[in-house]
Amino acid sequence: MRDFRAELEQRRQDGLYRTRRVVDTPQQPDMVVDGQGMLSFCSNDYLGLANHPEAVAAARNALGDTGLGGGASHLICGHHRAHHELETALARFAGYEEAMFFSTGYMANMGVISALAGRGDTIFSDRLNHASLIDGCILSRARVRRYPHSDVSALAAMLVETDGHKLVVTDGVFSMDGDVAPLPELVALCREHDALLVVDDAHGFGCLGPQGRGSVAHFGLSPEDVPVVIGTLGKGVGTSGAFVASSALMVDYLVQKARTYIYTTAMPPAVARATSTSLRLVEQGDDRRAHLGRLVARFRREARAMGYTLMPSETPIQPILLGDAWSAMALSRELEARGIWVTAIRPPTVPEGECRLRVTFSAAHTEAHLDRLLGALSDCRQLLSGSAA
Ligand code: PMP
Repeated sequence: MRDFRAELEQRRQDGLYRTRRVVDTPQQPDMVVDGQGMLSFCSNDYLGLANHPEAVAAARNALGDTGLGGGASHLICGHHRAHHELETALARFAGYEEAMFFSTGYMANMGVISALAGRGDTIFSDRLNHASLIDGCILSRARVRRYPHSDVSALAAMLVETDGHKLVVTDGVFSMDGDVAPLPELVALCREHDALLVVDDAHGFGCLGPQGRGSVAHFGLSPEDVPVVIGTLGKGVGTSGAFVASSALMVDYLVQKARTYIYTTAMPPAVARATSTSLRLVEQGDDRRAHLGRLVARFRREARAMGYTLMPSETPIQPILLGDAWSAMALSRELEARGIWVTAIRPPTVPEGECRLRVTFSAAHTEAHLDRLLGALSDCRQLLSGSAA
């Protein structure tokens, strides 16, 4: 039998051992973590909606008429009107013919990729794509070719060499780097090579584009350009679940074929009902997005001036690049000692030698919160002298 204990010990020695922290508060900037007050800069609740009173009230009210459990899968008896209405609202908001609601983004990506490509097909996947896209590629049994991050010329060369059905898969906003995929160039390439473009907009939906409609709208692209887009609802929208938006034909196809949709219990309908409320808040959230933009710009200016290495990102994902796992963990610990919570991100989530603190901003953060983060970073800069930049 494998020596599981030794594997765990090895992880510890490599600085890659992961732990879970216990939270006693809703998701919000001021949290209680393992019994201690901390100011969080590591949640994906970009618009500060995870604990919005209107969405919480919508969930509470919905429970009264939907009950709690999902009951069964969507194709048996679990497809509640609350799910159906949310799908209609999501399709309208994203500007697509139809949308289909999944229980998580992980499942949406696994289900969509494995339904749209199979044995004998080829999937082209950005090297920094999220784990759920990578796992969807594996599940599909298609041939997978990973192209260098956002490298459109490398992808073009690979597409030229390949016959048959082709899928190009990319994050819209890269989850650990915060940069935006070169969608207009990818659209042109996919047209030229008759490839189907699938964009996972987990971190763009709610944040980018007019009214937060996402990366596709951010570039002024349309459903004809990006035929399949996936959005998650546990990040900018602040609730839970995910959706794929596409043509009516494609959604019909996915209802028949996406295994992670067909073989799982529907999400409690009350969450779908609350998500419809949150989606309205996203749409009306220009002030939130503008505030977020100001926080990000100030953070970039001041953290850079202190000598920290940031990444080319204009989104609320603002990683501080450290390099090895120990340096990342040391900075995380020093910030924690000052009441600031930013988790260290290490392999396999990011490539070897690119460990980082993934600082994320929320519209619920105030300028005073940012003062505290910058003050702590300023202290730590001296403590780590040299290794943080
Ligand atoms: N795609 C990306 C790019 C993500 O970052 C994540 C979550 N971290 C997911 C998909 C999965 O979404 P969910 O958390 O809803 O499963």
